[in-house]
Amino acid sequence: MKQGALRTRESRTFRRAVAGWTRAGVAVAMAATTLAAVTAAVSRAEPVQVIKSGPSRVGLLELYTSEGCNSCPPAQAWFSRLAGDTRLWNDVVPVAFHVDYWDYLGWSDVFARAAFSERQRDYSERWKSTRIYTPGFVWNGQEWRGWFDGKKAVPATGGEAGVLTGAITGTGVDISYAPSVITGEEPIAHVAVLGMGLERKVTSGENKGKTLVHDFVVLDYQRVEITAHDGVWTGHAAWRAPRDPAPARHAVAVWVSTAQGDPMQAAGAFITPAAEGVLQLTRREGAFKMAKINKTDAEWRAILTPEQYQVTRQKGTERAFTGAYWNNHDKGVYVCVACGQPLFSSDTKFESGTGWPSFYEPVDNHNLASEPDNSFGWDRTEVICGRCEAHLGHVFDDGPKPTGLRYCINSVALNFVPQDPAESIKEASKK
Ligand code: FE
Repeated sequence: MKQGALRTRESRTFRRAVAGWTRAGVAVAMAATTLAAVTAAVSRAEPVQVIKSGPSRVGLLELYTSEGCNSCPPAQAWFSRLAGDTRLWNDVVPVAFHVDYWDYLGWSDVFARAAFSERQRDYSERWKSTRIYTPGFVWNGQEWRGWFDGKKAVPATGGEAGVLTGAITGTGVDISYAPSVITGEEPIAHVAVLGMGLERKVTSGENKGKTLVHDFVVLDYQRVEITAHDGVWTGHAAWRAPRDPAPARHAVAVWVSTAQGDPMQAAGAFITPAAEGVLQLTRREGAFKMAKINKTDAEWRAILTPEQYQVTRQKGTERAFTGAYWNNHDKGVYVCVACGQPLFSSDTKFESGTGWPSFYEPVDNHNLASEPDNSFGWDRTEVICGRCEAHLGHVFDDGPKPTGLRYCINSVALNFVPQDPAESIKEASKK
């Protein structure tokens, strides 16, 4: 276990005021404005997946962890095994918050956020504790030391809490909570987008040389105001750009808590390929811009395969007719292999006969950047990812209508996210 100091209330309150919570109303208004201009392929309001609890209480198990802490990997490995536990989602919803207070030890955890450390400090303060530590478990709002004591079985929950529903739509998650018993309590809803199978090679700090696999990692977390009507509380959490790097698959966790933060009911699920497609479409339509990425050469080497590194960071070119996608005809979105930004849609892919995947336009011009490339004595235009500056390929002016452009892209610079529910998520991440 690793202990950290509790910061002062003044600094915490200040930072919270600066950061601000995303109020559901504001987020919905933003999404509506952006999406109104877009001709949607799917009805945006229709749920593609409904995550639902039964009336019995489902527990929320939080893990506070860090890639930079050498006592965390065993706890994370145990946490990952919940993926195969029959109690998963039925009795327990696991969420792993990565904290940033060990970043100074020499490894910056890409999943860590100050707000997550803040959340742990809030709990600690309520328990009248002066310490925070990793790995730290919180079971239904209470410190849980069972893992350290060797019990390693999540305690049972009991009683009825009411049905909590999270309906995944094109714009986000519609929350609905019907408590079993009507009380004076005014609950708050929480929505977390979780990443599964995130493999990370740690190259410095306490875990130097280790490859860590993270599951149930909180990639995005929002508190959402819900309002009551006829005893049912409802609200909406808008999709926000999922953080990098892209996971093998996503899950969504929804819970309601008291105003003080004590969980009352939880629900969660791995998202279906259809919901995954919706998430990608939301990204593709640019409802929420993804932040730029600047990584060192060593960091890129750590997360990319040698082939991906050679093409995207050293402007290499794969041999024609050898890549995974030149002959791919499935419907879906092609995202940057290095940072997950959506780049091309299958709708604009065409047969160029060159042996490289070819498109006549990107999903959004802002997602790409171009630079003149005069290497080898040719006058070409290089295409790079607008977010992480990965080399993707070149653009030529001998393409088909309506643009007349031919984006000639290396398969190895792309990841394909199928839109068809019949396609498996594994396919999307096979590279
Ligand atoms: Fe990129």
